[in-house]
Amino acid sequence: MPELPEVETIARGLASRVSGDVIESIWLGQKPEPLKSPAREISATLEHSRIAAVRRMGKHIVFDLEQNSVARAPLRQAQGRLSPAKGREPKLPRARSSSPSFTSRAAADGGVRLTQTRPTQAQWIVHLGMTGRLQICEPQSEILKHTHAILKLASGRELRFVDPRRFGRLSVARAGGFDAGGIEPLEADLDRFLALFRGRKTPIKSALLNQKLLRGVGNIYADESLFRSGIRPRRRASAITREQLGRLLASVKEVLREAIALGGSSISDYVDADGEEGFFQLKHRVYGREGEPCLVCKTPVKRVVIAGRSSHYCSKCQK
Ligand SMILES: [Zn+2]
Repeated sequence: MPELPEVETIARGLASRVSGDVIESIWLGQKPEPLKSPAREISATLEHSRIAAVRRMGKHIVFDLEQNSVARAPLRQAQGRLSPAKGREPKLPRARSSSPSFTSRAAADGGVRLTQTRPTQAQWIVHLGMTGRLQICEPQSEILKHTHAILKLASGRELRFVDPRRFGRLSVARAGGFDAGGIEPLEADLDRFLALFRGRKTPIKSALLNQKLLRGVGNIYADESLFRSGIRPRRRASAITREQLGRLLASVKEVLREAIALGGSSISDYVDADGEEGFFQLKHRVYGREGEPCLVCKTPVKRVVIAGRSSHYCSKCQK
């Protein structure tokens, strides 16, 4: 499962590669699971939209789209990237019957001076699930098994969504304003952070993992943050002092920023937007180190299960 730092890395990689490009057409596979919005709605929202920005919200990748601004700025920006293979039709899997195959509307628009209308805001939201990947490639490159979506871009490249285990989800917010729930840990100030735990009787570890409170803090980063702030994972959230929560917030931000700087830390088959292995393993101080000596005091690291998740901590350094 990619955690916040991996998703941030992927979103940044995508932003630098596809911002300004235009989605000419989209092909969607026949498997229903990856489509959280109806296929027809996804196609209608994405086709002929300009990708204004790509960013992370929690563990979601959000593409901000501008519609009714077909191929103006994007073509200019994309000029240097046009591949020699442009125009060559890729061999595609059979298109689902309910969704249009690659349309030639963009081509039909060629030469027609489009009247400038105010761009409408829409969003394409991608959750990678366990094994989802977004691939940017040339149209002639082999279509991998488990490819569920192919976006044909005005720059001549394709953006593909590949997901063998199909826990990933594609959806659209036609009017924009997608709400990922919770607050963004990297943007949280102390007052908002303190308010999350007020009166909460659950263990602090469970509260950190609760996506309705904080977006995108996963198991590894929760354990590492609790270790750095000296708080045991089972401590009742409401009983932790303001001062300790202040240290915890600083630790959460520190751990996430370090992992983002390293390009994410999951041990997995995630690839970055270029299709290259993009991630390095953060040096975990407690996570996954059960029985090994604490890096600070040499006490063996303990593992307990809290709300079904493994939690690692040092019984001497964390109180
Ligand atoms: Zn220790």
